[in-house]
Amino acid sequence: LLLYSQRLTSMISEVFSNLNDSVGLSSCCNCQIKSSFAKVYMTGNNITWICFICFLLCFLCAEGVVYDSLMLKHQCMCGNYANHPEHAGRIQSIWSRLQETGLLNKCERIRGRKASLEEIQLVHSEHHSLLYGTSPLNRQKLDPRKLLGNVSQKLFSLLPCGGLGVDSDTVWNELHSAGAARMAVGCVIELAARNGFAVVRPPGHHAEESTAMGFCFFNSIAITAKYLRDKLNIGKILIVDLDVHHGNGTQQAFYADPSILYVSLHRYDEGNFFPGSGAPNEVGSGPGEGYNINIAWTGGLDPPMGDVEYLTAFRTVIMPAANEFDPEIVLVSAGFDAVEGHDPPLGGYKVTAKCFGHLTKQLLKLADGRVVLALEGGHDLTAICDASEACINALLGNEVKHKSQQVERMSKVW
Ligand SMILES: [Zn+2]
Ligand SMILES: [Zn+2]
Repeated sequence: LLLYSQRLTSMISEVFSNLNDSVGLSSCCNCQIKSSFAKVYMTGNNITWICFICFLLCFLCAEGVVYDSLMLKHQCMCGNYANHPEHAGRIQSIWSRLQETGLLNKCERIRGRKASLEEIQLVHSEHHSLLYGTSPLNRQKLDPRKLLGNVSQKLFSLLPCGGLGVDSDTVWNELHSAGAARMAVGCVIELAARNGFAVVRPPGHHAEESTAMGFCFFNSIAITAKYLRDKLNIGKILIVDLDVHHGNGTQQAFYADPSILYVSLHRYDEGNFFPGSGAPNEVGSGPGEGYNINIAWTGGLDPPMGDVEYLTAFRTVIMPAANEFDPEIVLVSAGFDAVEGHDPPLGGYKVTAKCFGHLTKQLLKLADGRVVLALEGGHDLTAICDASEACINALLGNEVKHKSQQVERMSKVW
């Protein structure tokens, strides 16, 4: 409540400070009524107007979206996108899509921030957080005893493309990667104060306590879950991982933890698909036994999994387990590499983008509709833009249009 009232105060003062900018009567972009209480609302180069009442309603009810251009700077020093499927164009094109479709105007833009090292250490070791969370500039301010010296150099290797990285996927830019990785975490934490969608990179679900891998440095969703539980006293959190790869880092973080139910749907192929973990019999340990669910698809691409399999898994396993768990909030590792358009080595499945909207709608039935999605993997630009659009439409309560025939049939049965 305090957070809301602080934001409300700052927004109201912002509205009034902008009143002088309202020249004549402008139509509100939401209710279309001509109003002198209009505010310039900038999204990129677009200027739109929103009336005071819609603005307040929007603030009280709207879904949040969070994005920061700092995350574009994380890129391989070779500068060649073709070598690296996880590149800045991914979030840039999603952001443009949200602007072009007008969805951005229907959401509240949440301001991102860099996560603190303390927040990162909710999940990661101190060494890991210093190694990937500091740039040469802020490293100088650290306690000399914590300085990493040669250790940091040894962990990065020279890649065939000429850049630097932990591996050829997980590239490192000494000046910008730390800032971008911390921004991705901070954006998800900020967004979790309400519902919404985080347009973030680098992704996080492969990052383990002390290991960066598979494009990931810090596990944004896992850190946010710990933050919500430890700092905001949220007792039960459901994490649903829709990425085609198993979220080994998230599973590791909560394997013995009964307060966080982790559910992942992923291509497994008896451990032959990256990262190799996520077997169905990995169910948690100690008090966490039963609180780790792996829907581990197997059988390769013959045939590839699609909407029917994903919807069936939701209907028969995920939703019943989630209802019984009765979470207070749902966090979604929204990887879109299961969407059609991804080559076999990085996906190969045929789930439609619209199906992801439908799955989001199912999750909104839980936790009084408290659902926060954060982008993970997916590199086919059309696929990830379509899927992001479908998920945000679902969050906004818009009908997910042009459902695929499969989804249509399945949702009728449901
Ligand atoms: Zn490179
Ligand atoms: Zn993935």
